[in-house]
Amino acid sequence: MSTLSINDLRVEVATESGPKEILKGVNLTVNDGEVHAIMGPNGSGKSTLAYAIAGHPKYTITGGSVTLDGVELTELTVDERARAGLFLAMQYPIEVPGVSVANFLRTAKTALDGEAPKVRTWVKDVNAALDRLGLDPSFSARSLNEGFSGGEKKRNEIVQLELLNPKFAILDETDSGLDIDALRIVSEGVNRFAAQGDRGVLLITHYTRILNYIKPDFVHVFVNGRIVEEGGPELAENLEVEGYERFIKAAAAS
Ligand code: ADP
Ligand code: MG
Ligand code: MG
Repeated sequence: MSTLSINDLRVEVATESGPKEILKGVNLTVNDGEVHAIMGPNGSGKSTLAYAIAGHPKYTITGGSVTLDGVELTELTVDERARAGLFLAMQYPIEVPGVSVANFLRTAKTALDGEAPKVRTWVKDVNAALDRLGLDPSFSARSLNEGFSGGEKKRNEIVQLELLNPKFAILDETDSGLDIDALRIVSEGVNRFAAQGDRGVLLITHYTRILNYIKPDFVHVFVNGRIVEEGGPELAENLEVEGYERFIKAAAAS
């Protein structure tokens, strides 16, 4: 059994007018075998949470902890966090001109395992993963994210997820900018990952539509840097009807 545990996490970001606190005490526990959805309006700090857990240097942790099976992640480098079993699919994947998808995947896999993957099976695995995400084998020769459509970027994140197969995946708005076919294909990829049974998923979104394809066990409403409400899938259905207004008002009043 594996556990990703976020305890009273406080994070600030450097801005022109000085440091600004974005995360104001986040508490969340994800066990393997569980799919959690974090839902909140734009600007509430969802991506900040994802970046802080993954170790982005722009975000300073001012309090609290993030542990994976008791190991304090906030003291590890980004690479060490990945080796500990963490994966982040970014809301806006970074373009890396000159580094092909194939090279990136191979480098990431090698860094994770401490040895290069076996050439013959690896190429097969890569092509199979591309195929499952509806991408042509020639896709692997393209520069990482350069000139990718929104849908190609998100599919490529799921190719990485499938090949690197972490213990815990944080998926930041993996649904944004997808048409209905791409949304289904990407969701199926996430569901295959989760179906292994001993993997944890933290699915960040502000729309409920992806939850028609990926069924969360737990839903957390995230407003103004903290979780303000928690429940099961019914909470997402509630949000679909009511929106975030009630939670935003309550957060402003507190
Ligand atoms: P979400 O993902 O929920 O839309 P973000 O985590 O992207 O929210 O942003 C939360 C808040 O933090 C926003 O008000 C945003 O403007 C601010 N913020 C995030 N990153 C930075 C940054 N690098 N510089 C300045 N402000 C930032
Ligand atoms: Mg946003
Ligand atoms: Mg975001």
